[in-house]
Amino acid sequence: MSVLSSEFDATFTTLSRDFGDRVERAAALSQFTTYRLGGPAEILVRVRNVGELGLLAAALEANPSVPILVIGRGSNLVVADAGVSAVVVILEGDFEKVEIVGESVTAGAGVPLPVLARRCAAAGLSGLEFYVGIPGSIGGAVRMNAGGHGRSTSEVLRSAVVADISNSGAVSERSVESLGLEYRGSALGGMEIVCSASFDLARDEPVACEERLSEIVRWRRENQPGGANAGSVFRNPEGDSAGRLIESCGLKGLRIGGVHVSEKHANFIQADTEATASDLAELVSEIQRRVFEETGVRLETELHWVGFSKIADEGDSSEAMQ
Ligand SMILES: Cc1cc2nc3c(=O)[nH]c(=O)nc-3n(C[C@H](O)[C@H](O)[C@H](O)COP(=O)(O)OP(=O)(O)OC[C@H]3O[C@@H](n4cnc5c(N)ncnc54)[C@H](O)[C@@H]3O)c2cc1C
Repeated sequence: MSVLSSEFDATFTTLSRDFGDRVERAAALSQFTTYRLGGPAEILVRVRNVGELGLLAAALEANPSVPILVIGRGSNLVVADAGVSAVVVILEGDFEKVEIVGESVTAGAGVPLPVLARRCAAAGLSGLEFYVGIPGSIGGAVRMNAGGHGRSTSEVLRSAVVADISNSGAVSERSVESLGLEYRGSALGGMEIVCSASFDLARDEPVACEERLSEIVRWRRENQPGGANAGSVFRNPEGDSAGRLIESCGLKGLRIGGVHVSEKHANFIQADTEATASDLAELVSEIQRRVFEETGVRLETELHWVGFSKIADEGDSSEAMQ
């Protein structure tokens, strides 16, 4: 649905009254994503607490066709070159707090996963070591059911506090079962914002937890590329690995414009400084085409594409579409 610029003007006026200089027009989003590419957001607002999410919801009630897009660490996002027709929400302040009580840990949605992994290890709490290698936020990890090294968020998460922006920002505590977490996804809707998440962990020696962190960091350095990327581009098809399929088709190093398939891990695409989101979309389509031709497998992307009118697989990436 296209949104009239007058609706953005009205939303911006209301948000400016409540958020002052924490609301911006035409804010560059490349700085908020790990690919470091893409165009601007119509409006960007930095929200510091749950009460302010209520103010955001009130501003949108008068302009209900204006969509929102929450960005955590932008480590799973591709923003279109033309930008995003949405109010982009960045969570800071209270959303960056961590509370540890006994073996229960509650972390704000804006907390970076590696930070939480290290805080828990230092406190002698085991279960979130796998987060040390995933450069996302708690909110993004719940939304995506982030996982690795044999663990996934759904196994350690007890509940999450979620604000529904389409319902006046009403906040509810949702059990892990009610969030519909599945392989790299959840049932959370585009107007639902994860505010915090609570995890049940197990006691262990801090030294043992920290050894596991070091092992994961070492493994990541050896097996995954650095530079600008967003981790795995494609979901692993049932019983196989997307990286193996791409490599078997001889696509390592394949380049379009400023992006190329990593030589180190075929399911990673790396972006140079001059890369565009269209280069990335083209390379993704080309990989899908060639893998399908040679193996008969249709690869689906794991990335969230925002601001694109159409992408190759039309997976679960439809938020803030233009
Ligand atoms: C080098 C590298 C390695 C990676 N390795 C892994 C891995 O091993 N396993 C893995 O699962 N992923 C991995 N990823 C991908 C990524 O880190 C995860 O998907 C992560 O969970 C995304 O979190 P984020 O905060 O960056 O989310 P974003 O990229 O900012 O957003 C992703 C989606 O989550 C939504 N979202 C973000 N915050 C919230 C919120 N508070 N409430 C509701 N929705 C929200 C966004 O709107 C968007 O739809 C890797 C990425 C990189 C760059």
